Amino acid sequence: MSVIAYIETPDGKFKKTGFEVASYAAQLAAKMNTKAIGVIVGPTDNPSELGEYGIEKVLHVNSTENSDFDSQKYTKIISDLAQQHQAQVVILPHSANGKSLTGRLAIQLNAGSVSGVNSLPDLASGFVVKKSVYSGKAIASYNIETDIKVISIMGNSVGLTSQPVNASIESISSETGSSATKVITRKTSEGIVPLPEAELVVSAGRGMKGPENWGIIEELADVLNATTACSRPVADTGWRPHHEHVGQTGVAIRPNLYFAIGISGAIQHLAGINNSKVIVVINKDPEAPFFKAADYGVVGDLFEVVPRLTQAIRKFKSA
Ligand code: FAD
Repeated sequence: MSVIAYIETPDGKFKKTGFEVASYAAQLAAKMNTKAIGVIVGPTDNPSELGEYGIEKVLHVNSTENSDFDSQKYTKIISDLAQQHQAQVVILPHSANGKSLTGRLAIQLNAGSVSGVNSLPDLASGFVVKKSVYSGKAIASYNIETDIKVISIMGNSVGLTSQPVNASIESISSETGSSATKVITRKTSEGIVPLPEAELVVSAGRGMKGPENWGIIEELADVLNATTACSRPVADTGWRPHHEHVGQTGVAIRPNLYFAIGISGAIQHLAGINNSKVIVVINKDPEAPFFKAADYGVVGDLFEVVPRLTQAIRKFKSA
């Protein structure tokens, strides 16, 4: 019996979401009196690092032919390993790749699945997991009754727990057969924390008046070491790239701190950000709906407030 965690290693490196999945798996395995096994696919710098988060064994499918993500091939690899190691639970990140594996794996393993789980299961009366629903307005509990369970974990929701063990590494080869898809090119943004993993986000909307004014947003993000985001109309009109669009039809995020600057706070925008831990709103309209969701609010002209805020943070940091 085991708990299996699929850990993503883009470009051969672990990311914080991978360590969160590892921490979750180790805590769950301890609750279930079993062991936590990590699965890594493709060349990875230091697989034993997972031991820091309680993973006792790492199954490393170390072939370059599988280094490009392919949900069909990865489903086969993970489901084969889950069966060999009698996994009771398979845990995935709730990332773009994790989402595409959750349903496929559930079918392969004849498992019940819940995606976007945000806390450890309650095992007192079954296997009850929770997730946020109705655009973050409610929390739903699901009891997964199948023998095998497949769940994906919402980023930045369960945190990291250091529980060091010596992880044993097993290098394995895996026959995946051919695939219906082929990766031709890959383009990745460099140097910034992707939005789903960002702990600090500076986001701006139509109140900015035009793309030429974004310098003040980038400066604030820079001084905070934050990731930038935007409302949907801003991305739709091409002021900002589409990958920055947050909300119901964009990326759903849950950072520790979310700055909403010149954004009205429409329900579709809030749907993607209202799990943020602290929300700061800057808007010149005191009646803007966003203030109802704010922890802190500044009523004022963003073109005056934002540069002064950046200056104050810079001064505070250098002191
Ligand atoms: P506006 O509503 O125009 O608000 C601009 C704000 O800036 C105002 O509150 C104004 O007071 C303030 N402002 C103006 N000037 C200043 C200044 N100088 N200083 C300070 N404040 C100022 N939207 C999303 O964001 N994400 C989604 O995923 C999304 N999905 C949608 C899905 C559907 C099906 C539909 C119908 C809509 C969706 N929308 C989404 C759009 C959403 O309904 C709103 O229209 C949008 O969020 C508004 O963007 P905004 O707040 O930037 O612009």
